[in-house]
This record gives sequence, structure tokens and C-alpha cells, in this order.
Amino acid sequence: MVRRLGAALAGGVVESALARGVGTLKSFDPPLGELRGHTFTGMQRRSKLLIASFDGDLLLLVHLMSAGRLQLYDKPGSLKDRTLRLAIRLTDGRELRLREFGTRQSTWAKLLRAADLDPPPLEDLLDDARPLHSMLRDQRVLAGIGRSWADEILHTAKLSPFKRGNTLDAAEADVLRTSMVGRLGAAIDHYEAVVGPTIPDKLPMPLTVHGRQGSPCPRCGTTLEAVFFEDYVVAYCPQCQTGGKLLKDRRLSRLLK
Ligand SMILES: [Zn+2]
Repeated sequence: MVRRLGAALAGGVVESALARGVGTLKSFDPPLGELRGHTFTGMQRRSKLLIASFDGDLLLLVHLMSAGRLQLYDKPGSLKDRTLRLAIRLTDGRELRLREFGTRQSTWAKLLRAADLDPPPLEDLLDDARPLHSMLRDQRVLAGIGRSWADEILHTAKLSPFKRGNTLDAAEADVLRTSMVGRLGAAIDHYEAVVGPTIPDKLPMPLTVHGRQGSPCPRCGTTLEAVFFEDYVVAYCPQCQTGGKLLKDRRLSRLLK
């Protein structure tokens, strides 16, 4: 969809834009009318969001939810179309329509300035009293990191998995960011090297800390420790990450209650 619409819309200039569905437009500044006169410059996707870019640093984000369609028509359509949620008419007579099939009105769009889409600094994202390990794998905070990589990243950053997010200083946040990029980047390099055109049945993750409790730390040789939760395990190096402190095993402390 991104490729087809991106190619078809290239250079198109907006004549008018209107939202029809109840609550479809979830932004109010800049107003939708501000698109008028702006040229379409490209289409991209970020996770499930479709993003149409216009000159003047305007971005239209669209989430199709389960039954939405973003369709380009040669001619303007009827405003009586009950599926219509948003229409962007171009000066050449074509019209981009966000339509939704079914009874629910859940597709949505936002008009933003490009700077509004820049991710906030990591310190701000993690500014919460929860432990780093649980925040890193919270997909609402940061998308894409699971339990295994949270262990690996925190070990690389030499940060305790139970350090509270709001106690990170700027230098630590910087190390954490570098560790995420470095550790995940190395994993991608590894997969690039070992995976051929067919994804193999078994594809072991190149992990050095996660699941390795009892083995020596790859950096300092200290025995790796772990904290066991009901459905996951957090592994760490007491020498590199917790200042020599052994963290309480939640399984045992619950049994002792
Ligand atoms: Zn270590």
C-alpha cells in the first residue's frame, strides 16, 4: 500500500481535505485545512501507521485498524459515502479517501508537524519508577525489545535490571541508548551472516547473558545470576551490573511469605 500510493501520489497537490467520521481526526493542531496547497512528498510506514508526507513538514498519520482502506480515486467521490472517514482532494481531480467497512468507527488519522513525530529522549521515555527491565520490554514504552534482549542490553550497558527508570542520569541513558543500538545491531549482523534465503527451522538467538545463569559472565568471568519470576527469568552479572549485590529471588521470597 505504501509503495503503490507513494508512487501514485508523488507530486500531487492538495486542493482540500475534510474529515467525515466521528472522531476520525484525532489531532487539532495544525488544522486539517492546513494541508491545502501542500505537495505530497512520500509515503512510509512505521509499525502499523501509514504516514503520508507533504512539503512544509506536514505529516498525515493513518491507522486503518481492522477494516479501513486508504484508496486513491481518479475522481472525487460522493460525500454521502457512508464508509468515508477522510477525503483529500488533489488539484488534478483525484481524491485520496480513507474509508472504513463495517459498523465500527475505529480508523483514525492525525495531522502533525514532522518535528512532533521525533521520538522523545530516552530519559523522558523511561522517566518512571518501574525497573528498567520491565520498562524496556513494555511495548507501550519502546517497541521491539523482549525479555532476552532486555537482559543482553542491560548487561552491555552495565546497568542493573532493577534500577528504576527515573533514577537514570543523562550519562547512563546515553550508555543505555548506545547499548540498545549496538546489541540489536550486532544481532542483525549475526542473522545477516547465518541466514540464507530460507529462514531455517531453528534459529538460535545470539545471546550471551539471557538464560546463561550459572555460566561465567562473558565480560568479567563472574558467575551470572538470575531472578526467577512466575513466567520469566532475568539474568545479570552481579559484578558488572549490581555492584556485587545478589538480587532477591522472587520465587523464594514468595514461598517465605
Ligand atoms: Zn560481568
